Amino acid sequence: MPTVAATTILDRMGPKRNDPDYLNSLMDAPNARFLVLADLKPVIRSNAERTTANLAWFSRAELAAFDLPVTDSLFLGVDPEGCGHFALAVTEHRTRNVPGAIEKLRPIVDLRSLAMQGVMPPEELSLCGQARALAQWHENARCCGHCGGTTLVKDGGWRRKCWACGLEWFPRTDPVVIMLVTDGKRCLLAHEHRYGNKMYSTLAGFIEPGEDIEHAVRREVLEEAGIRIGDVRYHSSQPWPFPHSLMLGCIARAETTDITLDTAELADARWFSKDEARAMLEKRHPDGLTVPGKQAIANALIHHFLDHV
Ligand SMILES: [Zn+2]
Repeated sequence: MPTVAATTILDRMGPKRNDPDYLNSLMDAPNARFLVLADLKPVIRSNAERTTANLAWFSRAELAAFDLPVTDSLFLGVDPEGCGHFALAVTEHRTRNVPGAIEKLRPIVDLRSLAMQGVMPPEELSLCGQARALAQWHENARCCGHCGGTTLVKDGGWRRKCWACGLEWFPRTDPVVIMLVTDGKRCLLAHEHRYGNKMYSTLAGFIEPGEDIEHAVRREVLEEAGIRIGDVRYHSSQPWPFPHSLMLGCIARAETTDITLDTAELADARWFSKDEARAMLEKRHPDGLTVPGKQAIANALIHHFLDHV
């Protein structure tokens, strides 16, 4: 299964997080734990060989020693022992008055790299993904989209409210369909210009207003590869915090097989046999072609094609 999956290790306390006194008591408690995102990258601890990585958890006192205030921390949830977990998002801009704070916090590593390297436990990756998606939304939600007024952080970061017109804003999640297209024997995989290597993956695209999942799958495949899709089956989903998407994985049955490539989107798209797809998955394809690693839902969809189609 994908490793940037939904976390179950913390209770998000939805019914209680709108109570400032409750959040303050969690934050003031000596067992409160804070992870730090510096320009959206987590502060980690790793071994000398860099073969393992864990999120670095700080106490409020430790952050105070770095002159980092916790007042705008984002509430992630409570563990089974009742200990509150928070994320503190800092930027170079915000730490301008805290000389050397970023340097003292290192190592700081991009979350996508951590996922690709497979060095961080899945539950920590997912927790960090939750924090990153939320922090990224806040970066772009400081002003009200309706009146342009300043918005204020509420509910430990799970709501913003416009100071001027009172409109409420909630963290956004962008639904994306990602589909393995099969004709029953082969699967369709594509190479995007931006991949920059020999990787082929499943087609994907954002769901547009007014669409259901099935319509979005059929439209995207027709637009990008010129193939008509019949049956669409939901497979599984994965939060993808770059910046805040929800990938909805599907298996799509092709009714036609002639490919007409949208060259603006794709560099290549081809039908692959099961033998070829398996060789790509196991990194032994004669032409060096590969597929996304196990951190990506595309990998799970290709496995489903090999085992169940
Ligand atoms: Zn407003």
